[in-house]
Amino acid sequence: MSSNIDCPKCQKAKTPNHGLVELTGKFTIRGTITCDIDGHERPFAMTTGCIQQLDFALPDSQSEQLGPLVAKDVKEDMQEAERANYAHCYKACVTMCRRALQLALIDCGIQDQPLGAMLKQAMKQGPLLDQKTFDLATSIKGYGDLGAHRRDTLDPSEVGMVVYATVKMVNEVYTRRAALSGSAANKPV
Ligand SMILES: [Zn+2]
Repeated sequence: MSSNIDCPKCQKAKTPNHGLVELTGKFTIRGTITCDIDGHERPFAMTTGCIQQLDFALPDSQSEQLGPLVAKDVKEDMQEAERANYAHCYKACVTMCRRALQLALIDCGIQDQPLGAMLKQAMKQGPLLDQKTFDLATSIKGYGDLGAHRRDTLDPSEVGMVVYATVKMVNEVYTRRAALSGSAANKPV
């Protein structure tokens, strides 16, 4: 059983990068397809037998929506969160989202301490967070706590939403930080 795969980014740039994946025997492969030309990544699941699935249905990677202000290690954490999501490692995914949020706050001048205390401090000192983004950040923290500690299980359908929310949140924090300190903060770290 084989499937053609094409990189959508290369396709758009009119420099097609085609591939062929073949799978025999009773196996499932799952993970990400990475284009060696532009680094585009997307989820992939393929099963032999009567079902074959190439998962094109998931949205394009959210981490690409992170702005130029966002630090490299925060971006890398979000890319790892997405990889974990594609690989159905949901706890790992939300844990990385939580970590990205924490790193972003540290990067934007909030003292490194337990995340709950950081959020309160950011809220108190302003203007990184307002009530709306504080609530959003608290909810991301809540999901991250589920991933990191022994508590309830995670609903996989919510995990993509956590990634989406974290990307928005991180962008917002960096943008507010930049507005606060003028052009000096406008350089990516
Ligand atoms: Zn490509």
